[in-house]
Amino acid sequence: MIYLDNAATTQVRPEVRAAMDPFLDRDYGNPSSLHAAGRRARRALEDARETAAAVLGADPKEIVFTSGATESNALAIAGAAEAHGGGHLVTTTIEHPSVLAMVERLEKQGWKVTRVPVDGSGIVDPARVAAVVTPRTALVSVMTVNNEVGTVQPIAAIRKAVPGVLLHTDAAQAIGKVPVNVRDADLVSFSAHKIHGPKGVGGLWIRKGTPLAAQQVGGGQEFERRAGTENVAGAVGIATAMKLAAPGRMADLRERLRRGLGAPVAGSPGAPHILNVAFEGVDGEALILALDAAGVCISSGSACASGSTKPSHVLTAMGLAPDLVKSSVRFSLSMLTTDEDIDGALRIVPGVVERLRKISPVAR
Ligand code: PMP
Repeated sequence: MIYLDNAATTQVRPEVRAAMDPFLDRDYGNPSSLHAAGRRARRALEDARETAAAVLGADPKEIVFTSGATESNALAIAGAAEAHGGGHLVTTTIEHPSVLAMVERLEKQGWKVTRVPVDGSGIVDPARVAAVVTPRTALVSVMTVNNEVGTVQPIAAIRKAVPGVLLHTDAAQAIGKVPVNVRDADLVSFSAHKIHGPKGVGGLWIRKGTPLAAQQVGGGQEFERRAGTENVAGAVGIATAMKLAAPGRMADLRERLRRGLGAPVAGSPGAPHILNVAFEGVDGEALILALDAAGVCISSGSACASGSTKPSHVLTAMGLAPDLVKSSVRFSLSMLTTDEDIDGALRIVPGVVERLRKISPVAR
């Protein structure tokens, strides 16, 4: 199998698994317990927090572990909104569904929402963000790296353009791929399973002093930001994955794939792991299924949107013609992707594309 769907999820790497293992087995204590087993779990959890904080250049007290970037986004947006009380939210047209759906829910509850459009290369103009911010704006949420096309948003410039407003960024596709300076924002979401960590664990960096209402209440864990018995093994897993995450040769391998495929690519060259390609005259979903049968795993822009026949909201927002949107697929790499994976894809994909072009006159 050639797996080129690493933006959807990645394999847990052996080092991460080995680091997690003791906390699934011998050291299974509850970090809130007073006894030795609990203390060992507490120590592991706080070590993991320190490691994650060190990777992000942050203070450990600013890290809250969650169940993934979906929850981190929900906590950041709903938490900031609740703490603020009411008013105006700003986001973009190309965010992950976990952001867009939360913002839409708040809109139904009476919040005013502005969705800033992107240009043809999938980039948000900081001046356009500044132009829509008002004294009533509670939060601006702009993702660091888009999961469908890999474009990198100018978070530092957005920070400068809206200095006084709370700024959240979803960095789920950014950590380990592009430099992330958490201090460009106030709230930063991340996730383990995009960087060879386990599924079901993520984190939110919360700048010290940021007003945020917990969305999960109860035992007061995670500095009273997120109640629930901590996922100790998961925290150790995400911390280990973060420590090991690096772009490696991804950019070179992606460039080789891009040149070899020779098809138009959506979005300005951004994060090193994502290549969104349109094969004119081929239906993207048909191509994904045909490649699956040939042992190559890829996807349409978003795993969350696949299975639905809805065209990509990201490519549509970028102004791509509808038939090109339908012809687009996403190849995504990880730091464990090899030359052999790329060679294999380049051996298989062109032939499958040709075959589909012959049997389906035009993708509509
Ligand atoms: N944001 C982005 C940009 C993503 O790519 C994803 C994963 N598809 C998420 C959020 C959700 O992350 P998780 O699966 O950890 O909830």
